[in-house]
Amino acid sequence: MKENKRKNCIYLDHAASTPVSGTVLEAMLPFLTDFQTNPHGSCYSARYALDAVKKARKQVAELIGSEPSGVFFTSGGTESDNLAVLGIARKAFENREKKAGKRLDKKDFRIVTSAIEHPAVLNAAKQLENEGFDVVYADVDSEGLINENDFEKLLTKKTLLVSIMTANNETGTIEPVGRLSALAREAGALFHTDAVQAAGSIPFSVKETGADAVSLSAHKLNGPKGVGALYLKNPAIVEPLMFGGGQEKGIRPGTLNVPGIVGFGKACEEAAERLENGGASRLAGLRDRFLDGILEAVPEAHLNGSKDKRLPGNINISFPGCDSSTLLVMLDAAGICASGGSACSSISGRKSHVLTALGLDDKVINGALRLTLGHETTEEETKKCIGELARIADNYRKMGILRAL
Ligand code: PLP
Repeated sequence: MKENKRKNCIYLDHAASTPVSGTVLEAMLPFLTDFQTNPHGSCYSARYALDAVKKARKQVAELIGSEPSGVFFTSGGTESDNLAVLGIARKAFENREKKAGKRLDKKDFRIVTSAIEHPAVLNAAKQLENEGFDVVYADVDSEGLINENDFEKLLTKKTLLVSIMTANNETGTIEPVGRLSALAREAGALFHTDAVQAAGSIPFSVKETGADAVSLSAHKLNGPKGVGALYLKNPAIVEPLMFGGGQEKGIRPGTLNVPGIVGFGKACEEAAERLENGGASRLAGLRDRFLDGILEAVPEAHLNGSKDKRLPGNINISFPGCDSSTLLVMLDAAGICASGGSACSSISGRKSHVLTALGLDDKVINGALRLTLGHETTEEETKKCIGELARIADNYRKMGILRAL
């Protein structure tokens, strides 16, 4: 099978989605053709499919250093986040009521999350707020990092759940989740982390993180779209959101997406191998040379997020005074695919809540570009992009639009 290479564009939007690798596709195909049976059926083909799901569960578990029994397949990162945030908070509240032996008021019970979470967490937290819970949002500093002292002040004895992402999808900032989860545990709260952007990109271990729940998504690590997982240290902490045939131990019922799960497993295995072979530092090196090249060609540009605590493939950079949607159209016309804020904020059309939380000036927020590299990105591609950005910036400079802060 041919290697999966994008032929028509320089693809710099890996934070939005990554290409399915040829080997992942190859692993998936038999489960769309020869072994398409429901894996919970009783024929040979079903048993073969169920074995493949078992293998995939192990591959996912190995990437995050967990037991396979802690991995529950879902339809993706959004579902995993919803299941964690809603399911854990509701169950923890129910347990507190049982312990108290009486009805309690939800407004006395707290959920802590952050201002920079993905909408899959933020909107689930909003739902909990609508149900009556006390939801509070940890602030971040100008690099997008959560301040541990401020965070600790938000924790009370009545905090049920803390949900803080491992790495941000817009700025790539890597949060100190190990320490935040330890603080949450000390306060008696459960800890969930959205590791959708981090897993496969940087080393990630559920044990080191100390998380009770971790969300993952296949399409961010060269797997297919529409499949993900929720890791649970103890499945009893979650109340399911769906009810059905009892698959995934009733945590997430529904016929398993076998081809997707098999592809997810293979993608995790390949991501683990890349990490083992120094893939993260290779990518960070390419990213740093790319960033230096942009800053040399466009000295007015402003890097958003942390310089050091950042995902290896992420550059979030602003051209102050410019409009990011126009920049994207110009890049697209030059055959370069990038994004402004996240793929999700381009759907909602709203100003990035992440860059707003960093306290950046509107001129910076509106001129932000997210250029995200993948392991198949080449030096030549980044050089071409630097050339295009230099040309675009030159025109904006001549018009007096692009200005240093
Ligand atoms: N969480 C983060 C940090 C993400 O970047 C994304 C996708 O952009 C999601 C959750 C949602 O994942 P999915 O697209 O698999 O639903």
